[in-house]
Amino acid sequence: MTTTTMVTSSSPRVVGNKVPSVVCRARRSSSGENRTMMMPLKKKMSARDDEKRRHERSSFGGVRVAAARRRSSGGSSNDDDENNIINGATTTRDELLEEIEKVKAENAKLKTLQMQLEDVSLSSSLSSSLSSSSSSKSTTRTTIKTTKKAAVGALRTDPKSESEIEWPLPITAEGCPVGEEDKKPFWETRPKNDPDELFEGKTATEKTNRPKKIAHVTAELAPLAKVGGLGDVTQGLGRAMKMQGHNVEIILPYYQSLDANEIFDLKHVMDFDVPKGTKWDGENVVSMMKTSAYSGNIGGCDVILLKPHEETNSNIFKGGAIYGGSYNELEAYLYFSRASLEFLDKSGRDPDVIHVHEWQTCAVPMLYWEEYHGKTSLNKAKIVMTIHNLDNTGECREEEFFATGVNGAKFNVIEKALDERTIGHNPERMCLMKGGVVYSNKVTTVSPTYAKETLDGNGGFMSKILKANQEKFSGILNGIDYDLWNPALDATLPANFAPGNKMTENKKLCKKYLQIGLGLDADETKPLIVCISRLVPQKGIHLIERAVTQSENNGNQFVLLGSGHSDGGFKRMANEEFSQTNSSNVRLMITYSDALSRLMYAAADFVLVPSMFEPCGLTQMIAMRYGALPIVRSTGGLADTVIDCDADQENGNGFVFYGADDQSLDECIQRANKTFQDRKKFHELQERVARVDYGWEASGNVYAELYESL
Ligand code: ADP
Repeated sequence: MTTTTMVTSSSPRVVGNKVPSVVCRARRSSSGENRTMMMPLKKKMSARDDEKRRHERSSFGGVRVAAARRRSSGGSSNDDDENNIINGATTTRDELLEEIEKVKAENAKLKTLQMQLEDVSLSSSLSSSLSSSSSSKSTTRTTIKTTKKAAVGALRTDPKSESEIEWPLPITAEGCPVGEEDKKPFWETRPKNDPDELFEGKTATEKTNRPKKIAHVTAELAPLAKVGGLGDVTQGLGRAMKMQGHNVEIILPYYQSLDANEIFDLKHVMDFDVPKGTKWDGENVVSMMKTSAYSGNIGGCDVILLKPHEETNSNIFKGGAIYGGSYNELEAYLYFSRASLEFLDKSGRDPDVIHVHEWQTCAVPMLYWEEYHGKTSLNKAKIVMTIHNLDNTGECREEEFFATGVNGAKFNVIEKALDERTIGHNPERMCLMKGGVVYSNKVTTVSPTYAKETLDGNGGFMSKILKANQEKFSGILNGIDYDLWNPALDATLPANFAPGNKMTENKKLCKKYLQIGLGLDADETKPLIVCISRLVPQKGIHLIERAVTQSENNGNQFVLLGSGHSDGGFKRMANEEFSQTNSSNVRLMITYSDALSRLMYAAADFVLVPSMFEPCGLTQMIAMRYGALPIVRSTGGLADTVIDCDADQENGNGFVFYGADDQSLDECIQRANKTFQDRKKFHELQERVARVDYGWEASGNVYAELYESL
């Protein structure tokens, strides 16, 4: 054990490059994907087919009717036959009706192909017009449709017929199959997604010719180390940049709760010492915490996992869940921030960009510019910080910061990390997120509207800080990983689907599967609303409760999957009025399960997201990908991604309400229900929303530009 003394403070040396205050980005599909779509179409349109289509256009149905006549007259085929038919030559009524049906079916197919062609043309023309402009109004983005790989690709298995599906036994109140209390609930027994299968053969659309070394430092990474959207975003963004040809590594705490068997290619890399401050006999002492680094792959991303070495007996990151272990979280993430920098230095990584996320890793930029840059092997990195949510900004007392091995006094001043609201308090405290903003070269948040909302004063104390740093702050809309969230390949679903491929029929099977499994009425005609959410005030708890209690009155079914510190009321409802015995239309699942969430997205007609504020929100995007229509309150990223179907018949992709009161929600659900009753329209909307492109490619490009600008 070594002991060192503190270094003294100096000013931050960060000089942010100029960046537009808010970067609104536009959606566009990759040229590669457009090509994939166009090739089969082109192939189909041979000269012969062109001729045939011209003929069909000029004499609607004539070819078909002629064919019918050929069959009925023994098979001779010539132009005269056709002309006879067109000119009203004799044939039976039934034959004509039969042929009319066939033509209708052909027309429907033609319409689908035309829609796909329109999508391709629209997205390619938009991508060329958008490439000339780095910013555009966020609302224009959402009108852009595109046909993704899944729209034309094969499904994972041949979609099963109803009789082939092994239907689940309904769960009991304890979540086990009836009569089989020792067994797992049905969603945990479904096959798991194999990342190899999901990511196999996926190539970047366009490789960069300026590859960068990017190190993310984060507390979450999907699918293994995920609690909410932070995990999805670090995984999706990390993989998108890797697909572009950048060298991306994601540094993550090695939580005890991570199942080593699910980390691909897990290897021990090195042990190294991390300075760690403690109070010893009233004295500040810095000692060295032996730390182990492992490499592996999670969710298609290369990871570095850090944890205190076994022999230290530290309880940091120990426990059965990502958060909420028996350790002090602030101390643990301060240690982790320091350990990440030590790892980057001692392993000789020398990244171009260090990208940090949320308050947990904000000490990285602070320490980097004060302790590492120019003093260690880390000389060239610039820092990007992403704010995923301003709900928690990382309050930290000066002496607590000492867990990094650096005296907090260095940062506890107004121009650095001091939380001005605590001036005159005893003690005055720091805000790690403020420190992160001050010390980072660029700061992003996760949607253009949330960026605007925060600058307009809706970000509490941080609004002032962000306004003061406006020139380096921008809003970039999150995406979702279209390979990880892919109903065509998702192994957890009993029947797979994609737009244009078994969408309606197999979504119905998924709905029935969930209804049976959760012991709901297996009634296809009842609109099924689901809500998958952390249960915290931000998510609109009172509106979720309202939707639950109104479901039966509205003729809806409702399934909630969620947990969090505001879940008490739902637990009570789950055990009382909406228990298995009392309700066959509502089920409240107060737990966390990736597999169940996937089944729910696939089964849902609607996904409710009634947030009071929402930095970006991913559930509405996943909903669309799985052919469910989001019902959202217009705020933050929800406003950027969902267009009301009634307000915009052509581009609508969900239902939007504005108020935070019961009536606003009720009216919106009623509108959604009305659309559900129009089956044809509803199925068309399902197809439409499943084609909307909220993948990471477009956002990845904006981040690439941002990295390039550092
Ligand atoms: P937030 O980051 O505020 O939690 P987002 O909408 O950005 O909200 O992301 C939520 C992510 O977490 C989605 O992928 C959603 O499916 C998932 N999720 C939320 N609650 C649960 C749960 N109880 N079980 C499984 N997945 C959940």
